[in-house]
Amino acid sequence: MPSFLETPIEYLKGVGPQRAEALKNELDIHTVGDLLLHYPARHEDRSRVYKIAELGSAEANVQVKGRIIKTDLIGAGAARRFTALLQDETGLLELIWFQGISWVAKSVKPGETYLAYGRISDYKGKLSMAHPELENGDTAVQSKGLVPVYPLTEGMRRRRLENRFMVQTVRMALADPKLDIPENLPVSVLRELQLPARTQAIRMLHAPADLKALELAQKRLKFEELFFLQMRHLQLKTNRNRVVKGPVFSEVGALFNTFYKEHLPFTLTDAQKKVIKEIRADMKTGRQMNRLLQGDVGSGKTMVALMSMLLAADNGFQACVMAPTEILAAQHFYSISELLEGMHIKPMLLTGSTPKKKRTEILEGLKNGDIPFLIGTHALIEDDVAFQQLGLVVIDEQHRFGVAQRAKLSSKASLPPHVLVMTATPIPRTLAMTVYGDLDVSVINQLPGGRKPIQTAMRPGSNRPLIMDFIRKEIKAGRQVYYVFPLIEDSDKLELQSLMSGYDMVNEYLPAPEFKYSIVHGKLKPEEKDDEMRKFRNGQTDIMVATTVIEVGVNVPNATVMVIENAERFGLSQLHQLRGRVGRGGNQSYCILIAGQKLSTNGKKRLETMIRTTDGFEISKVDLELRGPGEMDGTRQSGILDLKLADIRHDENLLLLARARAEDLLNDDPLLMKPEHFGVRQELAKIPHRTVWSKIA
Ligand code: ADP
Ligand code: MG
Repeated sequence: MPSFLETPIEYLKGVGPQRAEALKNELDIHTVGDLLLHYPARHEDRSRVYKIAELGSAEANVQVKGRIIKTDLIGAGAARRFTALLQDETGLLELIWFQGISWVAKSVKPGETYLAYGRISDYKGKLSMAHPELENGDTAVQSKGLVPVYPLTEGMRRRRLENRFMVQTVRMALADPKLDIPENLPVSVLRELQLPARTQAIRMLHAPADLKALELAQKRLKFEELFFLQMRHLQLKTNRNRVVKGPVFSEVGALFNTFYKEHLPFTLTDAQKKVIKEIRADMKTGRQMNRLLQGDVGSGKTMVALMSMLLAADNGFQACVMAPTEILAAQHFYSISELLEGMHIKPMLLTGSTPKKKRTEILEGLKNGDIPFLIGTHALIEDDVAFQQLGLVVIDEQHRFGVAQRAKLSSKASLPPHVLVMTATPIPRTLAMTVYGDLDVSVINQLPGGRKPIQTAMRPGSNRPLIMDFIRKEIKAGRQVYYVFPLIEDSDKLELQSLMSGYDMVNEYLPAPEFKYSIVHGKLKPEEKDDEMRKFRNGQTDIMVATTVIEVGVNVPNATVMVIENAERFGLSQLHQLRGRVGRGGNQSYCILIAGQKLSTNGKKRLETMIRTTDGFEISKVDLELRGPGEMDGTRQSGILDLKLADIRHDENLLLLARARAEDLLNDDPLLMKPEHFGVRQELAKIPHRTVWSKIA
């Protein structure tokens, strides 16, 4: 016999086939169990029914109970409205509708008692309530305590299935004596954290006695959500470690050592050393590495990648680096080639614009093992690119790649290669844990020494003459300058236009040919772009005027000024990336944010944050707060963040707790065979296996 929770929703009293259809189609609610897991989005405090005489122009919503003594249809056309006069023993309140008039006019009956809920407005001393929620005053279900407000769709509303219907239906389910929701957390955890049982928590969430009960219910259900997400991450990780074997890089060989002793242009920071150690430890075990490398802009992630690649080569394996854009791939290619100069090992570059003949040569060299390192773009994952023995994949600025693309790259080896994912900008720890919880994480938490912190200032456009004087001085002193204009969305043509008028504007102050320009935008052909970049890199040009195509990875240590026009239009991580293009050499660098006077609250907060700090981890925290977890670079497409109740911005402690308890549990009982873990196992079996990104293994 199916349990009560599996009862089809149409059999619940008060639902029936038609409403059941709506619940299925609109909210994906098919059973009583689904209904109970459709959590309220929030709760409204309706512990009080106000008297009309008490109403001022109250800020919040209030509810009033009274009799409708009169209704009216007034006006015509756009000015048409329906009013109803509500009376209680203390006074009169006008209810007004501007929309849905014919339905309201039919259903509101003079002489009857109603409970009206809505916001009071005060027009010249006359109080009214527009578009109130109305319920029959004698049978109202929403009139008491904390009333849950359920997420609804337009489709539901169109069928007049409003919150009231949901409240009533859920209440019906909760009242059934057969209701028993199986526990899915270990009792020991509940006891330790003093959390209510599942049935109780779900009851309290839908019908809380008071705020305390509600908070307790939320805590338990949030914990549950986070716990199972972490369980899934950790299970994936342990299964992978148990099952999947990776190439063994047992030796630190001649290439690594020669490079380290003779070619390293600087001493590694302690943080770089620590991370290289972590990577080496992974690679020699025979398990496959899946590691996320977090480090701030300019922290020297490329060097870590290169040294890992040398380890691969020392052990007879090939390595590749995949970058999201041609510019970035070229940049990696140049810096890595330069670093390897004088060594007998050379990388190759493969992008969409590699000429056919060259491409054929490269493919040949990859197949017969002549090419140890390949650097490139999406071109690396085309079907005909085959390696002799690929041992390491480095993915730079990972957020721009889809899961499928990464999977494809990994499938190019018989043994799954080690994977090192590098983020463009740091993401907060809570977010990393939630989205990449199945990866190991290394953090470079230190910038190379000898760098002077970049000075950042915000200036109005009217200050341009002064800004240009400043730029002129810097260029005369031998430095170079980036001048960035915002990208105009979805229009290459407009982008080009605005960039060109931007260029003209800068050019008025700093005229060519006295000042030499590189111009980079999305419309250029890859080889043209590359040419412009190269000139800037070589110091043949002084000013790079660009849209955000230069955002990531570009490395020109002689550049000391970054000017960003319309800075308020950029996101925080973008601004941080852009600013990170300067301050890469020994000279004092500057970032000048030009912004309008009228800024949105968030826009202002972003710019203030940029001025306040240069710490990428700090900036990413603010970014997370402002945008929310679903909108951060790198997580938008992940689909992992559709948490129903928990919000990693506010529930960090619960997240850490959930992770720790999940770790304990798996240590204690890796296969979840103990009877007290039966509920956990059952719950995990229910979680649909969405694409978790490290499936690339
Ligand atoms: P990111 O982490 O942003 O990718 P890069 O790898 O591009 O940073 O490194 C930024 C700059 O710092 C490069 O010019 C690089 O050569 C230099 N660099 C890297 N490591 C060190 C170090 N240990 N000491 C000095 N300079 C370093
Ligand atoms: Mg980089």
